[in-house]
Amino acid sequence: MKAKGSDLIPVLSIAGSDCSGGAGIQADLKTFSAHNLFGMSVVLSVVAQNTARVISVHDIPAQSVDEQMLAVFEDIVPKATKIGMIGTCELMECVARNLEKFKPQNIVIDPVMFAKNGFALMPQENCDFFKKTIVKFADILTPNIPEAEFLCDFKIKNEEDMIKAAKYLCTQGAKAVLLKGGHSEENANDVLFDGNEIFILKGERIETKNTHGTGCTLSSAIASNLALGKDLYNAVSEAKEYVRNAIYYSLNLGKGCGPTNHFF
Ligand code: PLP
Repeated sequence: MKAKGSDLIPVLSIAGSDCSGGAGIQADLKTFSAHNLFGMSVVLSVVAQNTARVISVHDIPAQSVDEQMLAVFEDIVPKATKIGMIGTCELMECVARNLEKFKPQNIVIDPVMFAKNGFALMPQENCDFFKKTIVKFADILTPNIPEAEFLCDFKIKNEEDMIKAAKYLCTQGAKAVLLKGGHSEENANDVLFDGNEIFILKGERIETKNTHGTGCTLSSAIASNLALGKDLYNAVSEAKEYVRNAIYYSLNLGKGCGPTNHFF
C-alpha cells in the first residue's frame, strides 16, 4: 500500500533541554504538536532539573550548535523559530552567527533568565551581551517583568513602566515586544508593542503552583501561530488563550511547580 502522505508546517525551537519535560525544548515541542505543526529542535544546553530544583547545566559546544543549525536549515526550513535559554556569551555569539547565516523568518525570542525556583539560567552579567547580539533578531521579544528590568536597567512598578520598557526594548532592535505582566502587583495584564501601537492584553490570574514552563509554552505558541500565518496581534492573543488553558488544566506532577498541560 502506498502511503498517503500529508503536510505539516515545520517550526523550530533553539533552546535548552529540560529533562523533566515541563519547560525548555520539551515544552516547545509539545506546544508545536498541540498546534498540529512539525517541531524541530536545536539543543543549546542540557539542564538537569525537575519541578523542584535545577541540579546542573551543561552547555553544548558551539560546533555542535553550528552543525545542528546546518542540518535543519539545509533540509527542512522552519516557518517560525522560537529561541529560548541561551546561557553563555559563546552560545549567544554562535546563535547570532547562525541567525545571520540562515535568516529564519518569524523569530520569537524568550529572554529566559531564571527557572521558576529562581535558579539563574542566564547569568545577569551576560544580559548586556544578550542585548547587543540577540535582541535585534526578534520579530517579537517576550520578557516577563524581572527579565525586562534586567534588559532595561530600570524598575517596573506599573503599567506605565511596562509601556516604557516595551518601547525601550524596540529601540534596542526588537521589532515587537510582549511584556508579560504575570509578576506585576497591579494585575496580570500584558503589554504588546508592535513598533507602532501599544495594546493592553487583559490577563486573569489563575491560582495554581503548577506554572513550570509557562514562558516557554507562550513563546512557542506565538511561534506556532505565526507559522500558521496569523498576524502578530492574533498570534499573541491566541497564544495567551492557549497558555491560559494550559495553566487552568495544569498537571499535578512532581514535588514542586508542576508542568502546564499542552493537550487539555
Ligand atoms: N528553558 C529551560 C531549558 C528551562 O529549564 C527553563 C526552566 O526551568 C526555562 C526555559 C524557563 O521556564 P519557564 O517557561 O517556566 O519560565
